[in-house]
Amino acid sequence: MIKHDRIEATTAVLEDSDPIHETVLAYADEHDIDAIVIGTRGRSGVGRMLVGSVTEQLLRESTIPVVTAHEETTVQWPFEGILVPVDGSATAHAALSEAIELAERIDAAVHLLHVVDTGLVTGDVDGGMVLEALEEAGEQALDIASDRVEQSAVTTVESSIVSGPPSHAICAYADEHGIDAIVMGTHGRTGIERVLLGSVSEGVIRRSEVPVFTTKAEPDG
Ligand code: ATP
Ligand code: MN
Repeated sequence: MIKHDRIEATTAVLEDSDPIHETVLAYADEHDIDAIVIGTRGRSGVGRMLVGSVTEQLLRESTIPVVTAHEETTVQWPFEGILVPVDGSATAHAALSEAIELAERIDAAVHLLHVVDTGLVTGDVDGGMVLEALEEAGEQALDIASDRVEQSAVTTVESSIVSGPPSHAICAYADEHGIDAIVMGTHGRTGIERVLLGSVSEGVIRRSEVPVFTTKAEPDG
């Protein structure tokens, strides 16, 4: 038992031949755990891995929210501003549900952000039209999301659309708008079947100075 000012913790050392993330998830299941907090990198953190492999597998497989932190993460509690980056995917939709529940409880503002990924616009097509289509899709995703927040008990909602590389733009927004936590999906529009973590979530998890909560889409999407 670890004692901190106001926190009591239980400890457990598990010995199991199953993969580490499976052992952690089984423990969480048996003990009715509501969230997992984990570092982005562990002891075998070699340069080629952007996010540690156990962390990545946990993020991918966990059915409860996983909160990531690294050495420079600062926690400001209660969160006053929660950022939900939206791309119109079912996974981002699931993340928004979690964010709304959290924001309702602590009376936090919900900031919705869509990033128009200008990297998707290549020189050989009509860039202007592609950009317009991307912007329109982004606005639509934001409208759907803000309608949902407005139907909840959340009192403050902000919607923004910016352009640039998504994970950089998301972290820059967080820095500039007093965001205390980011809630997002593990995957987005392109990768629900993909085994790896989506590139936007990975970039945010690595760079963010505030805790990042990631959620998966519900199985029925
Ligand atoms: P990839 O884009 O790497 O092929 P993916 O689409 O499955 O894979 P991500 O793009 O990393 O995965 O999506 C993870 C989460 O990041 C989404 O659930 C959403 O919360 C957020 N996100 C992704 N793209 C954007 C974007 N353009 N603007 C705002 N948020 C985004
Ligand atoms: Mn994506």
